[in-house]
Amino acid sequence: MADAPDWYRDGLPHVWLPYAQMKTAPAPLPVAGTQGSRIRLADGRELIDGIASWWTACHGYNHPHIREAVRRQLDVMPHVMFGGLVHEQPLTLARRLAALLPGDLDRVFFTDSGSVAVEVAMKMALQYFLNRGEAGRDRFVCFRDGYHGDTLATMAVSDPESGMHRAFRGLLHRHVVAALPRDEESEAALTALLQSHADCIAGIVVEPLVQGAGGMVFHDSPVLHRLRRLADRFGLLLIFDEIFTGFGRTGAMFACDGAGVTPDIITLSKALTGGTLPLAATVASARIFDAFWSDDAAQALMHGPTYMANALGCAAANASLDLFADGERLRQAARIEGELAEGLVPCRELPDVTDVRTRGAIGAVELERIDDLDALRRAFVAKGAFIRPIGNVIYLTPALTIDGDDLAFLTRTIAEVLRERR
Ligand code: PLP
Repeated sequence: MADAPDWYRDGLPHVWLPYAQMKTAPAPLPVAGTQGSRIRLADGRELIDGIASWWTACHGYNHPHIREAVRRQLDVMPHVMFGGLVHEQPLTLARRLAALLPGDLDRVFFTDSGSVAVEVAMKMALQYFLNRGEAGRDRFVCFRDGYHGDTLATMAVSDPESGMHRAFRGLLHRHVVAALPRDEESEAALTALLQSHADCIAGIVVEPLVQGAGGMVFHDSPVLHRLRRLADRFGLLLIFDEIFTGFGRTGAMFACDGAGVTPDIITLSKALTGGTLPLAATVASARIFDAFWSDDAAQALMHGPTYMANALGCAAANASLDLFADGERLRQAARIEGELAEGLVPCRELPDVTDVRTRGAIGAVELERIDDLDALRRAFVAKGAFIRPIGNVIYLTPALTIDGDDLAFLTRTIAEVLRERR
């Protein structure tokens, strides 16, 4: 990049970028700042952001209420370890999350990334059975198109075929990969699977209502009711991974609210801090927590990331929850759903498009295939939009605060780029 700043030129040869073939991927764009739904590049260009930084920046970038809360906390104490010490922000956040979540999901274990939150959920489920004296339950049921993270344990419960971790097939712990029970037939198939593996399964792991990184694949609440019934029938724990769906993305505060199904464990991250700081939470029901409550030290949950419950992250998360309190964000998600549905209509007519779907603040245009993802990404940037298709899906997950004009620009740009691609 000819006129790139010094920090870019001097530092880029030393970083390893995510999900990128470093030899052939286009040069990443140097960012000078962000505001609302805009990303300002070092060369002065401004992009309208359709992704909200992997679905985190739900209030738009640099929200003053979150910035102020983080600034205040920075003056008090940026971090102190959570072993043997507790402090105000995480305890307040835990109380508020417990109040917001359905049922008795009220014990919060903080971590610092989504993948680790899912690992903790899996570890809780495994040890739940061990603590109850039921050995041998070391597998999970997970689903095609599912994605739960990039660590070894979470890769193993992500889709092994269509997911991005195909190369690791055979190297990971083997779980039971099933089709979602969308109808009676697939429910019967899943029931048969559970019957045949009854003694070795600890839980069912699912992204409720929307499988995000697997391609914005939607299902409806009856699927989750079936999973709840099957989990109860076979004595399994139901884990909802709401790292993508939580905090208004599907139109309800949590997908489990929208579906009316309460899991035994839920994982949260991404929009938890409104996109400002890394933080995640694994929230367990009283039943799970009770299985660890013992006079036997060996029955404790032996987990404790160094930066867990970071005070700045928890202050940001508390401030983010303030911004959800008056219900405006969910009204914005409903408005976005309507605008996405309308704005993406022209895409339906385009030749390679196989599906256009919207749910809450998620819009997806699925193509037969995308041969050159990088070229498509570059075409969006050239028009002033930051949109990053995954697999064969172009999607929008904007900030819930995006205004109608910016959203219309994004949907129009998708249609334009697809037309010009022909
Ligand atoms: N679970 C879901 C549903 C996700 O969408 C993601 C990330 O995209 C993760 C887990 C992993 O989160 P992280 O990237 O913070 O490890």
